[in-house]
Amino acid sequence: MIELRSDTFTLPTREMLEAIIQTPLGDDIYQEDLTVREIEGLVANVFGKEAAILMPSGTMANLASIMAHCPRGSKVLVGNESDIYIYEAGGASVCGGIIYDPIPTQSDGRLLIEDLMRAFPEDQDDPQFALPSLICIENTHNRMGGRVLPLSYLNEVQVFARRRGIPVHMDGARIFNAAIAIGKNVSEIAQYTDSLQFCLSKGLSAPVGSMVVGNKEFIKKVYRIRKMLGGGMRQAGIIAAPALIALKQVESRLNKDHIHAKQLAKGLSLIAGIECDESTVDTNIVYFRVVDKRYDWKTFIERAKENGVNIAELGHGRIRAVTHSGITSKDINSTLEIFKGIMQEH
Ligand SMILES: *Cc1c(COP(=O)(O)O)cnc(C)c1O
Repeated sequence: MIELRSDTFTLPTREMLEAIIQTPLGDDIYQEDLTVREIEGLVANVFGKEAAILMPSGTMANLASIMAHCPRGSKVLVGNESDIYIYEAGGASVCGGIIYDPIPTQSDGRLLIEDLMRAFPEDQDDPQFALPSLICIENTHNRMGGRVLPLSYLNEVQVFARRRGIPVHMDGARIFNAAIAIGKNVSEIAQYTDSLQFCLSKGLSAPVGSMVVGNKEFIKKVYRIRKMLGGGMRQAGIIAAPALIALKQVESRLNKDHIHAKQLAKGLSLIAGIECDESTVDTNIVYFRVVDKRYDWKTFIERAKENGVNIAELGHGRIRAVTHSGITSKDINSTLEIFKGIMQEH
């Protein structure tokens, strides 16, 4: 099976599994797991932030970050197509008493400053209003095709947020994809944020985990909230050890994924009955539509699966394909051949 549904299907390499056996472990709730200490130190450094913390998932990383920034009864400004708003079970409302204020998402993943501005009440002293306490942006933007937010835009958001006296959190689940796509270090992106979470378990191909970075005081709050949410982990070095290996190999790995995504998008754009805009593929995510009248997205996905390719619908009838370490250039060619075959049936 050619697995294109998500980069979360990546499996740990032999080297990663061996690292788990070798690495020193301890109780991380006592802060005595040396492997966790190592990855937290390394990641803080790489992102140019004071501190970092290992989290069990991206969802908890975002939730704990939002709760650390936002008082109860305040509003978090999120994109209406963001992972935080759509896929995270409303955690900030349920656990944090925080209101999600969904802001329209542009096709390139940006939230317009003028739209953010509208979320602020004219009279901040009027006790009737819930006040915005955080802006969340997503980079790369999953539901908007893995698009990368430009640094100039990040700067605009930061200037706006500072003027309004609130912080910026970046859901950077795929931040390394963003950095590699624009040829910058992650610290050059992270400098425009107060906090950022990224996933170890996506393109990086580690089996489990996410990290949050920010200043010391903020990470201390996240640490407490992580414990409250049940995310304090004991010998968490078994999560950190494979992730350390993933971080060392990140650049060469993700570059390949981006090349494969471009290859796929270009091929798809040439197949009659499929619509794909190659020019919007910045990273490892490809969206396309089936416009052939004999299929809808459901029947096309079924036919693809019967022929050995796994893909999935991801909002508004669009089909998503994600490249990752388990996908080779040959797999992309096979996928394109299979799709062509499906279109030539009947
Ligand atoms: C996957 C993802 C998350 C959540 O990560 P989990 O580890 O699956 O909880 C958050 N944001 C974005 C953009 C993602 O792609």
